Amino acid sequence: MELISIIVPCYNEQETLEDYYREISIIRGQLLQMECGLEVLFVDDGSKDQTLKQMKKLAEENPWIKYLSFTRNFGKEAAIYAGLTHACGDWVGLMDVDLQDPPALIPQMLATLREKEYDCVATRRVDRKGEPVIRSFFARAFYKIMRHISDVEIVDGARDFRLMSRQYVDSLLKLKEYNRFSKGLFGWVGYKTKWLEYENIERTKGETKWSFFKLLMYSIDGIVAFSTVPVRFAAWIGLMFCLLAFVFILVIIGRTLAFGDPVAGWPSLVCIILLLSGIQLFCLGLLGEYLSKTYLEVKKRPIYLCRETNLEGASDGKQG
Ligand code: UDP
Ligand code: MG
Repeated sequence: MELISIIVPCYNEQETLEDYYREISIIRGQLLQMECGLEVLFVDDGSKDQTLKQMKKLAEENPWIKYLSFTRNFGKEAAIYAGLTHACGDWVGLMDVDLQDPPALIPQMLATLREKEYDCVATRRVDRKGEPVIRSFFARAFYKIMRHISDVEIVDGARDFRLMSRQYVDSLLKLKEYNRFSKGLFGWVGYKTKWLEYENIERTKGETKWSFFKLLMYSIDGIVAFSTVPVRFAAWIGLMFCLLAFVFILVIIGRTLAFGDPVAGWPSLVCIILLLSGIQLFCLGLLGEYLSKTYLEVKKRPIYLCRETNLEGASDGKQG
């Protein structure tokens, strides 16, 4: 019989875990009728509440529930990577525990993948209902910028909820980078993806773990990981200002020869110095972003550390 492994990253999710378990159990029954088994792999991303305890209890009662717990909070990307490494199903799914990703779509996803026309069925939400306006605005702007500066397709509104073929997951696992930006990695590996659309569903219980600042940092990570346009942009600005300066020099020489050299114009000089040093520092910062990411990359630290698990032969997420 075929097997689906569903990876579920959890961070302080004691309110939602039980509800998720109830829903996914129903779907498991439906999948068994389609002659497909289901295992759930909960990845506890260093939760500080009762999440791990609940996971262990569920795992004791159900042999199809696995868990893997990190030594601290390594972030959702690390949890996804840990899940992908340990999922052994013929099909591998990824979803949030807060029921914002409807489990009822899984049988439909499986049916699509079984036709072998697609390697992955992914989901995107068509609206951002219930989200703060300013957050939606920045999210839209991010996707628009990304479309222009990156070769990799990053779909607006794409959620992490997806079901993938074994081959697709094996390809994903070949990307062992430390700065993981899954939305980009999914696009980078290529293959054929079918997109299912649904309206945004609000979190049932608990709270979102993503503050505006955390999302902003995440988007910068995404840009640095999937585009080198910003550093090239620095070079272009530099070149443009050199040309401008050259023209100015000619104008000033001409003016001095014609009208002499009256001492004036210091306010404009201050403005120009301020502008240029601002641009220089900005570009230096851009370079620094790439350099710091490279620094983290060459250190080859493990992507996560596992404290406890009921998986056999679990390993820490070493790179390379
Ligand atoms: N999550 C995680 N580690 C983190 C933050 C979040 O594993 O550091 C998990 C969280 O438990 C949930 C999923 O990632 O299952 C999505 O998080 P959340 O619902 O807070 O994000 P949102 O849906 O608001 O984007
Ligand atoms: Mg959520």
